[in-house]
Amino acid sequence: MPRKLTASLSSAVETLGTGGGTQVAGARKGRATRKPAAEAEAIQTAKKAPSPAQQAMLKLGLRRDIDLALHLPLRYEDETRITLLKNAREGDTVQIEATVTQCEVQLRPRRMLKVTVDDGSAACVLTFFSFYPSQQKTMAVGARLRIRGEVKGGFWGRQMMHPSFRVAGGELPTALTPVYPATASLPQAYLRRAIVTALQRADLSETLPPGEQPPVAQFYSQNGLQPFYDLSNALTFLHHPTPDVALTTLEDHSHPAWQRLKAEELLAQQLSQYEAKRERARLRAPVLKPLPGSADLTQQFLDQLPFGLTGAQQCVVGEICADMARQIPMHRLLQGDVGSGKTVVAALAAVACIEAGWQCALMAPTEILAEQHFGKLVGWLEPILAPLGKKVAWLAGAQKKKERAEMLSLVESGEAALVVGTHAVIQEQVQFKNLALAVIDEQHRFGVAQRLALRQKLAATGMEPHLLMMSATPIPRTLAMSYYADLDVSTIDELPPGRTPIVTKLISDSRKDEVIARIGAQVASGRQVYWVCPLIEESEALDLSNATATHENLSEMLPGVMVGLLHSRMPTAEKKAVMELFSAGIMGVLVSTTVIEVGVDVPNASLMVIEHSERFGLSQLHQLRGRVGRGAAASACVLLYSVNDNGRLSETGKERLRAMAETNDGFEIARRDLEIRGPGEFLGARQSGAPMLRFADLEQDVLLLDWARELAPRMLEQHPTLATRHVSRWLGGKAEYLKA
Ligand code: ADP
Ligand code: MG
Repeated sequence: MPRKLTASLSSAVETLGTGGGTQVAGARKGRATRKPAAEAEAIQTAKKAPSPAQQAMLKLGLRRDIDLALHLPLRYEDETRITLLKNAREGDTVQIEATVTQCEVQLRPRRMLKVTVDDGSAACVLTFFSFYPSQQKTMAVGARLRIRGEVKGGFWGRQMMHPSFRVAGGELPTALTPVYPATASLPQAYLRRAIVTALQRADLSETLPPGEQPPVAQFYSQNGLQPFYDLSNALTFLHHPTPDVALTTLEDHSHPAWQRLKAEELLAQQLSQYEAKRERARLRAPVLKPLPGSADLTQQFLDQLPFGLTGAQQCVVGEICADMARQIPMHRLLQGDVGSGKTVVAALAAVACIEAGWQCALMAPTEILAEQHFGKLVGWLEPILAPLGKKVAWLAGAQKKKERAEMLSLVESGEAALVVGTHAVIQEQVQFKNLALAVIDEQHRFGVAQRLALRQKLAATGMEPHLLMMSATPIPRTLAMSYYADLDVSTIDELPPGRTPIVTKLISDSRKDEVIARIGAQVASGRQVYWVCPLIEESEALDLSNATATHENLSEMLPGVMVGLLHSRMPTAEKKAVMELFSAGIMGVLVSTTVIEVGVDVPNASLMVIEHSERFGLSQLHQLRGRVGRGAAASACVLLYSVNDNGRLSETGKERLRAMAETNDGFEIARRDLEIRGPGEFLGARQSGAPMLRFADLEQDVLLLDWARELAPRMLEQHPTLATRHVSRWLGGKAEYLKA
């Protein structure tokens, strides 16, 4: 704190050019007086090795003048007025001008400099625990100083700890002094000057089309309440606001200048996404329509399916097939709560693709899940593929060389109409004959790079495959409208019939024994149970020892029940064997680390116990819970929690568990998860490296978002040059990421 203040005192005056005094009292003096303009140029041409401050700026993404201009203050300090000491209340941060009446170094209780100053209204003692001889000199008795710091009113009278100070004199700044997000190696004073220079040099010319003002600015200008803000005015104001502004409107970003910036930011985001969508529309994909005279594979598939599709499933299948029948690559997200039946929808999309004479790939994030899909899809598809001489192939990392080679040749020859697997599916060696549809299950577990790799698989033909992404974590509406504006979304909003809702119970782990007794009863009545061990993020080894211990414990306490163990370090064959025993209903209890998190489908399992549930994320808990309640039996989810040493749960832990107990609705869970974690974490892999919104808040700025969404497509049509300039101003090179 005191360091910052020392640096900041010098600034407002010099940055605004209104004052004469630029004396920085302190050790930074030498460094801080170099010319930022010259430095910025040095960065751009990169001829010299960048200084620590330049490096720090680059790290913050402050590369271009416009980046600096858009680097906005966190808060402000008011150095525009001098306060009389007698008027300063305890805790106020004030600026005073006073004369030194005493200056001495004390050695007890520790070495410190005590300086008494008096401004005629009262006296104040300044205390410094670290100081330079030069500072001591500046504060010699009789010196007149301008001092800024927080007033404490102790027993010995007024005090300030490590205030910033300099020789009095020079005019007072007319604007508030900005305090920027910075780092230790980037002094505020340096950053302030760099920003002033950048503000002057940056091209801030209008990019909004004539007459297209964001809603709040319209309101203000129409009512003559505030001056109209264009970007240049808004930035100048936000960097150096006049002291009469209501600070709360700057802090909560409701000020029209902030509104203007947030609107522009949202517009840039929307433009880049619409642009990505338009670029995709220029790409070509195979048109997937049934070949004339082909056997009706879809009907055959539906005929042998043991259940009928729900209305929601039929509806999304329709949307997907309509997309695939176009020559533009599909880019669609299929979202549906856990257990809503996404797999069969994926299978139908695959059938449509195969029917048209093309190949389909389905990729899942874990081997267990991929394996399950494979088993299920083979069961559904082989009967109708066999007569056509086609197969379902399997590709995974832990595959025997020979089997892998066989699979690869099936894929290359086209005999494999469908390829199911893990990341192995997108490896370079995998050559498809004619891949036309890629399905990614649990898409949030995959990154941009993997989606790009999939899209490359058809590159030789100059086309791209259709892409269907599936997720059980629905995207809250606000995110869908902003970050996913370029994505088409299909939603399964209905569970298959006959499901009984899952009852969720929060139980303290001191009552673990009761829970185990209940497990015994469940198994005795022919049901099966999952027991998920705590997530120990720091250590996979601990995760494992924990699961092993629990496994032993449960085996002991449940004589006569087969208790299995599943964890990520197990050899694939062993995992497979365990899953088979559980799926077949032979194994009563499955103890596992979080490997079963996604997708596992064993309808007979009706109890899910999650140990240390307070450590899991909300979406993860919901996914785990979704492993039960898949059959007709009443199912339950027990969230065992343990309190910390103070007998408490963390606030977020509590919030998550409460949400779990209160709702089974995946959309509601997703909304709360977003609330708890914020968009950055929520979006996870998809946005790795992509620019997040810095200023706008999706909940608060819905009006601005609506405005941007409405304007973006029109602007791309009618004012493409402005649109390009706008996006590059706001996103620079980062816009590329959004296209994956
Ligand atoms: P998720 O959407 O979580 O991936 P799954 O595709 O695994 O869900 O489906 C969950 C279970 O529901 C599976 O056993 C599946 O066979 C079954 N199922 C899917 N659709 C229906 C339906 N329309 N009627 C009955 N059961 C269905
Ligand atoms: Mg699934």
